[in-house]
Amino acid sequence: MTEQAIGPGFATLALHAGAPADPASAAGTPPTEPPAGVFEDMEQATALFGLEGFGSDVVHSVNPANALLEERVAALEGGTAALAVASGRAAQFLALRMLLQPGDEFITGCGQHGGQMPHVDQTYKSFGWGVKCADQADPKSLEAALTPQTKAILIESFTKPGGRIVDIAAVAEIAKKARVPLIVDNTIATPYLLQPFAHGADLVLHSATKFLGGHDTLTGGLIVDGGTFDWQGDARFPMLSAPRPDYGGMVFAEIFGNFAFAVACRIFGLNELGPTLSPFNAFLIVTGLETLALRMQRHSENALRVAEYLAGHKAVGAVDYPGLASDPAHALAKIYCPRGAGGLLTCRLAGGYEAATSFIQRLRLFSSLGEISDTRSRASHPASTTHRHLSDVEKTASTAGPDRIRLSIGLEDIADILADLDQALAGV
Ligand SMILES: *Cc1c(COP(=O)(O)O)cnc(C)c1O
Repeated sequence: MTEQAIGPGFATLALHAGAPADPASAAGTPPTEPPAGVFEDMEQATALFGLEGFGSDVVHSVNPANALLEERVAALEGGTAALAVASGRAAQFLALRMLLQPGDEFITGCGQHGGQMPHVDQTYKSFGWGVKCADQADPKSLEAALTPQTKAILIESFTKPGGRIVDIAAVAEIAKKARVPLIVDNTIATPYLLQPFAHGADLVLHSATKFLGGHDTLTGGLIVDGGTFDWQGDARFPMLSAPRPDYGGMVFAEIFGNFAFAVACRIFGLNELGPTLSPFNAFLIVTGLETLALRMQRHSENALRVAEYLAGHKAVGAVDYPGLASDPAHALAKIYCPRGAGGLLTCRLAGGYEAATSFIQRLRLFSSLGEISDTRSRASHPASTTHRHLSDVEKTASTAGPDRIRLSIGLEDIADILADLDQALAGV
């Protein structure tokens, strides 16, 4: 309802935002132009290299497919500008690179991004960046991790193992008090279910590899600028607030105002380090976005039915899904994602490790391979696969204990999904 009052609704924006009025070059046209680097004439090239003609000029100095994706995701998130990059990890890296100098720190959720974070920590540490881990579902834990070196708080809106929704507004208050930007990874919720900027986030990240693209056909990432953080004159963020001799003494925060972060990521991140998104992948993501609203509705409906089914099954010890009325996170779900709690959930099997591995092997419709969060239902047993290398304590802390199953519920007919779970559980 409120969306109607302030402009077009989500599904309308998902089809039209950022598309030129000319129907011949509208959304859905595969990228036919060569990638970045082709200029109309010398004058345009000179202006772009001097960053003079900002606005559509710099935006469109990239391939039109990428530019359309950026404008559309900025519109769907309610941000001022966006930047498309090669992967979700690249989005995270470039965003942090704009904020952290050697010796600085950022705070993030323990076990974020599956079992991958411990390795990423080592890489970031080699840049001189400190990674402080806290419980992102507990704002007090994040607050306790703050130090004078903290330059960002990075949380996930829905934590990836499923089952937890972060109280973004409470974390935003802590970030504001400490004057550090709040970055929210909105990959699992997507802007259809949750818009972090409405709750006080300053920057939003996406792995478009998951629900945005939606079909497990690509990797991609996005950085979205909320335009809310005031970088100007803040010496702690020199990439944005200090004059750049290499760009004629320009101060990015001054020149580009409420989309300075997105421009800085483009110039100092994308252009200088090179994690460009292939225009064909941008085209695939734009095509995926057209059905995002419908897909997230169906993912959420199906996941709720699965959660209800599992909660009533004797072989299942516990189910974590915030859409369930009995879930501890349900009160937050009602505030943050009234349209649905998304497609991911976890459960624990009463029979422990043995039951969990045998359950996975018995599944027929669910695949146990590859990425989460696309059209097809998938199941994984992290303790024996993705999180194998962690200690038992670390496994349990990352929602990857021996009896834990993660499910990514797809768009199949719910009767077929339930039938597959039923026959697999019958055998454990
Ligand atoms: C997968 C994932 C990432 C990493 O994205 P890639 O596109 O695989 O690099 C980041 N954040 C979340 C929440 C993810 O699920």
